[in-house]
Amino acid sequence: MPGKNLSRDEAQQRASILAVDGYRVRLDVTSAPDPAAAVFRSTTTVAFRCSEPGAATFLDLLAPAVRSITLNGRTIDPATAYDGARVHVDGLAAENVLTVEADCAYSRTGEGLHRFTDPVDGETYLYTHYEPADARRVFATFEQPDLKAPFTFTVTAPAAWDVRSNAVHETVTTEGAARTWEFAPTKPISTYLTAVVAGPYHVAADHYSRELADGTTLDVPLAALCRKSLARYFDADEILGVTKLGLDFFHEEFDYPYPFGKYDQVFVPEYNIGAMENPGCVTFKEEFVFRSKVTDAAYESRANVILHEMAHMWFGDLVTMRWWDDLWLKESFADFMGSYGLIGARTRYSSAWVTFANQRKAWAYRQDQLPTTHPITADIRDLEAAKLNFDGITYAKGASVLKQLVAYVGSKAFFEGARRYFKRHAFGNTELTDLLDVLEETSGRDLRSWAAAWLQTAGVNSLTPQLTTDAAGRITELAVVQDGDVLRPHRIAVGLYDRDPDGALVRSERIELDVTGARTVVAEAVGRPRPALVLLNDDDLTYCKIRFDPDSLETLRAGLGDIRDDLARALAWSAVWNLTRDGLMPARDYVALVLRFAGREGNIGVLQSLHLQAKTAVDLYADPAWRAEGGRRLADGALHELRAAVPGSDHQLAWARFLAQTAGGAEHLGLVRGLLAGSARIDGLDVDQELRWALWLALAAAGQAGDEELAGELAADNTASGRRQYTQCLAARPTPEAKAAAWSAVVDSDELPNALVEANIAGFSVAAHRDLTALYAAPYFKLLERVWSERTIEIAMRIVAGFFPRAQTGEPTLAEADAWLDGHPQAAPALRRLVLECRDDLARALRAQACDRA
Ligand SMILES: [Zn+2]
Repeated sequence: MPGKNLSRDEAQQRASILAVDGYRVRLDVTSAPDPAAAVFRSTTTVAFRCSEPGAATFLDLLAPAVRSITLNGRTIDPATAYDGARVHVDGLAAENVLTVEADCAYSRTGEGLHRFTDPVDGETYLYTHYEPADARRVFATFEQPDLKAPFTFTVTAPAAWDVRSNAVHETVTTEGAARTWEFAPTKPISTYLTAVVAGPYHVAADHYSRELADGTTLDVPLAALCRKSLARYFDADEILGVTKLGLDFFHEEFDYPYPFGKYDQVFVPEYNIGAMENPGCVTFKEEFVFRSKVTDAAYESRANVILHEMAHMWFGDLVTMRWWDDLWLKESFADFMGSYGLIGARTRYSSAWVTFANQRKAWAYRQDQLPTTHPITADIRDLEAAKLNFDGITYAKGASVLKQLVAYVGSKAFFEGARRYFKRHAFGNTELTDLLDVLEETSGRDLRSWAAAWLQTAGVNSLTPQLTTDAAGRITELAVVQDGDVLRPHRIAVGLYDRDPDGALVRSERIELDVTGARTVVAEAVGRPRPALVLLNDDDLTYCKIRFDPDSLETLRAGLGDIRDDLARALAWSAVWNLTRDGLMPARDYVALVLRFAGREGNIGVLQSLHLQAKTAVDLYADPAWRAEGGRRLADGALHELRAAVPGSDHQLAWARFLAQTAGGAEHLGLVRGLLAGSARIDGLDVDQELRWALWLALAAAGQAGDEELAGELAADNTASGRRQYTQCLAARPTPEAKAAAWSAVVDSDELPNALVEANIAGFSVAAHRDLTALYAAPYFKLLERVWSERTIEIAMRIVAGFFPRAQTGEPTLAEADAWLDGHPQAAPALRRLVLECRDDLARALRAQACDRA
C-alpha cells in the first residue's frame, strides 16, 4: 500500500513544520465480545500548529473505512483524502483542529488493537501494541517518535470490564451495558508509546512510595494484571516485589522521579514480543505467568524484563530517540539496565551477568557476523527497516558496548551523565550527540573516537592470546592479537588459571589493561609461570570473541567443567560455541564437551543454552553422516543426566525437557510414553501440564501420537497454551498430510492468529523431518513477495524467517537462496535482509559441516 512505509525524509519534513498540542482519542469497543464484529469506532481530534500556513500534510491511519474528516470546521471527503494509509489535508492554518472518524479493525496479529477470546471461559480481552508504528491501526496519528503530545483517551467498553491506559482514569460512567472511561491527559509522549488495555482482567493492586530529595513524597499506585483464567497461577507478589526493588534502584541511580503517575504491568495473550514499555501501562507476554514448573532461569528472565521495561520509563519514554536510527538510545540502555538492575537492586538473581555473557551476547555475536549487520547507531530509512532493527545489535551488542563504556569511563561518570541527560532532555527527543555531550562532561574524556569505533562501525573483533615461554616454563611474552575489519580499543581483564589442590581451575592472576591495535603485549605477565589456561576478556568487560592458545584449548577439552567461577566457565562455554559456529571446532567435539561437562554445570541458564546449542550443533553443524549418531548420543546423555539429577531440581526439569527434544530411539520414546501414562516415574519429576505437552511433542514428531490421544490432551487442557501446543503437535507429525496442512493454514489464509501461525511453523519445521519439508523449498521462494505484500509485517517476518528451508543444509538450497536473491534485486529491502540472513546461516552450517567432516 503506497504511503504505509513512512520514510525518514517524510517524517523529518513533517516535523519541520508541525508541532502537536494534543490528541483526544475516543474508542468504542463495546462490539469486541461479538466475534462477528470486525471493527470498532475510533474518533481522533488532534490539535496542532503549522509554521507554514497554507501547507499540506498527512496523518497516518490504517483502517478499513474512514467515515468523516473535518479540518478547522471544514469537511473533507474521505473518498479523495484517504488512500488506505494516509489522511491527506491541505490548506493548513497556523493553528489547526483536525477530526478523523474511522472504523478500525480488531487485530489477530498482535499489531494495533489485538482481540483474544479465552477458550476457558469465553471472555474477550483487548490490548494494544504499537511499536514501531501501529498506533495508526487504532487512531489517526502523526506516526513518528519526535512529534510528542499529550494524549487524552476515552474508551467505551462492556460494563463489566476493566480499562487501563497510560494515565489514570478520571471518570467512569455506566450507561446500560456499556461503561465509558475518561482518562487524564498523559504527559507529552510519542505515539508508539500510547496504550489501551481492556477486558475482565484479574488485578493485583499494590502501592509504592518514596521520599524525594526535596522532601516531598512520590506515590505510585502499582497493579499487576492477567487474564482471569490465569489468576490462580499469578505470582503477583513476586512480580510486584521485583517492581519495588527496581523503583528504589532506578530512583537512586537516575535521580529523576518516576514521571508517569501510576505503574500498571499487564500480562497479555498472544503477545508478539517479551514486553513493551508503554508509560504507566507496561504490557508483557503472558507466558511469564507460569502455569507449570519452570526453572529459576525463567524467573530471572522475567525479572530482567521487568527491570528492562522500567528503565525505559526514563530511557525511551521520558527521553526518546528522534527517529529509529537511534533506537539503541533506548534499547541498548534498557538491555544493559535489565542485568545491571538485577544485581544493583539486590534481587535474588545474582548471576545476571553470567546470563548476559552467555546468552545475551550469543545473540549479538550471531547478528554481528551476518552480512546484514550494521553499526549500533543505524541508518534507518523507513518503517520497514525500523521493524527489522529490533535485533541483536540494537539490544545485546549495544548493551555489551555500554558495559564496556562503564569499564572505560567508570560507573560514576556514566550515571552522572544519565542524570544530566534526563534533566536536560525530559519529554524531548535526542540523538547520539546529546548522549556523548553529557558523558564527555562527566567523564572528561573525548568520546567521539570511542563512539566512532564502537557505535558507528559494525562487526565483532576476536582476541587471541599468543604465549611464549622459556625452558623453565616461565612466560617470556604474552600478547593479545586483535582481528576484525575495524580494530577497537578494548578495556579487558586477562585471567591466568591453574589447578588448585582439589583439581578445580581457579584464577591465579588477573591483569587489567587496554588492548589497542592489532597486537598488544601484556607486560605484567612476563616472568610468571605458564598457566593452564589463559582467559582473555575475563570478567566479560568488553565485547569480543575469545580465542585460545593451543595449550589453553587442550586444558578446556580436558576440564572445561572444572572452572570454578560461574562467569569464567560461561565465557569458556561461549567461546567454544563460537569456535563451533565459526567452523574452527568440529560440531562433534562441541557435543562431546557438552555431554562430558553439562551434567556438572551449576548455572541453570547456562545449562539450558548448552542444550539448545548442542541440538543445533547436531541438527545443522554436524556432518550429515554423523547426525543420527550425534542425536542418539544427546538423547542417551539426556536420559543419563535426568536419572542422575537431584529429584525435584531445576536441573532435573531441564534434562527432562532436553530428553523430550532429543528422544528418537525406542528406549527414550518408551520412557516418554510411560511418563505421560503414569506407568514410568522419575523420582521428584512432576509431569505437569507444560511438561506433558513437551512429551507429546516428542511422540508426535516421532509419529507415535494418535489423533485421539492428542485431542484427548487438548480436551484436558483446552486453554490458550493448550491450543497452541496442540496445534504444534499436529504440525510436527512426520506425514506429508501434516506438513501440507500446517503450510496451508499459514500461507493460504490470514485467518489464524499470530500465536497459531507461530505454532504451525514451529511444528512444521522439525529438523529431523527434512525429507518431508524438502518439497517446500521451491514453493517457499516463490511465495516470498506475495507474503511480503499481502500480510502484515509481523506475520510476513515470521513466515519468511520461519519457513526458510533451514534444515535443508546442502549446497542446492544455498543455490536456490542465491538464485532468489540474484533474481530479486528490487524486492523490499527488509524482505531481502531476512532472506540474506537465513542464507548466511545456511552457508555457515555448510562451513561447520565441512569442519566436522574433516
Ligand atoms: Zn526495550
